[in-house]
Amino acid sequence: MSGVVIVGAGQAGFQVAVSLRAGKFDGPITLIGDEPLLPYNRPPLSKGFLMGKEGEDDLPFRPASFYEDHRVRMLMGRRAVELRRAGRVVILDSGEPVAYDHLVLATGARVRPITSEAMDGLLYLRTVEDAQQCKRLMEPSDSMIAIGAGFIGLEAAAVAVAFGKRVTVVAAEDRPMSRVVSPMVSDRFLTLHRRHGVEVLMDEMVDRIEAGLRVHLKSGKVLEAPLIIAGIGVIPNVELAQTSGLASANGITVDEYLRTSDEAVFAIGDCANLNGLRLESVQTAVDQARCVAAAIVGKARAYNAVPWFWTDQYECKLQIAGVPSNCTQFVARGDSIYGFRADDTLGSVESINRPVDHIQARKLLETKVPLKPSEAADPGFDVKALTRNRPV
Ligand code: FAD
Repeated sequence: MSGVVIVGAGQAGFQVAVSLRAGKFDGPITLIGDEPLLPYNRPPLSKGFLMGKEGEDDLPFRPASFYEDHRVRMLMGRRAVELRRAGRVVILDSGEPVAYDHLVLATGARVRPITSEAMDGLLYLRTVEDAQQCKRLMEPSDSMIAIGAGFIGLEAAAVAVAFGKRVTVVAAEDRPMSRVVSPMVSDRFLTLHRRHGVEVLMDEMVDRIEAGLRVHLKSGKVLEAPLIIAGIGVIPNVELAQTSGLASANGITVDEYLRTSDEAVFAIGDCANLNGLRLESVQTAVDQARCVAAAIVGKARAYNAVPWFWTDQYECKLQIAGVPSNCTQFVARGDSIYGFRADDTLGSVESINRPVDHIQARKLLETKVPLKPSEAADPGFDVKALTRNRPV
């Protein structure tokens, strides 16, 4: 028995191994990861770790002994370079073949570079190494430019502000976090950053970056800072799948059971595309991993978890349940924004410092209890009563 081989030892890959053992899978498990550190938590990299509140020792999910105790063969610092599906074998960068019965591709994503040139002071934020570099450079710098107004750029901006740096955020989109939040939430976070003294330049395209570092914008403006953190999105790592003939389009294409076009091969997390949607979140990675582990131990069920996500910026924790970009109408209920699809069904809830609303929202979305936009807008309407005594 060759067992389960997992390529990618990040959030999703780690969780598959954990859930397989929790599900009483007794066969061999091999986890292959090209980073040197044991599987670790990425969200702190742009938050507590960058801030210095957490150290490198706080990042790994489990110590090395956990993998020994659970009989997970760890191939860390090793890269899978080829997938030979006919023989059910993965080839490592050392040339070593690793055979599998089931293969899970959990290869994540890599940062999208803003320029092909490497420049001193131009950094990205994906790995612990990236975060260490950002931390090192942030300390002596008096100012910083964040390119991109997504989660990464804005979280890094908030950290830099906390360290007393002068911060400029420049982005091509017309509003912050436009891909993932409603216009109302974008507005609130734009105001939040400006209130903290950040210069936020939206609708501005970067033309070129000069060593030094000078950022030339298409509008003719020129910005200068010793540190740039670029967060302009990621590219899913699909090459192993693609070169072995598996279908992919903005991620490895999977069906509702998270199977690729080869039923011995699953794909999950940031690298997987289900129903045209590729979600980059801890929840997706974890829940998809659990779903695949269940399928491998013979308890297959279709994946249909409600997506949720969070970001921390200054004193604000934004928690998102559902997918705001699928919604056409938004209703504010205090600091929670309820999003409705074109057919008036609830599609998302974005809550700012309202953890109770967020949990409630997840229940609402999971149970699909009907809620009308007019009810959400009515502060006297008891939303909580809708899901009381409803099992999720
Ligand atoms: P990853 O965690 O990226 O793991 C994939 C691993 O596979 C990587 O180690 C990669 O190097 C490795 N790999 C790739 N190809 C190969 C190969 N051929 N051979 C061997 N190894 C390979 N999500 C939230 O929900 N909330 C947050 O607040 C949040 N903050 C974030 C902050 C930062 C700075 C970053 C970078 C991400 C954040 N995310 C957040 C997103 C979340 O961390 C990701 O969605 C999650 O890590 C995805 O897990 P994954 O296992 O799919 O990919």
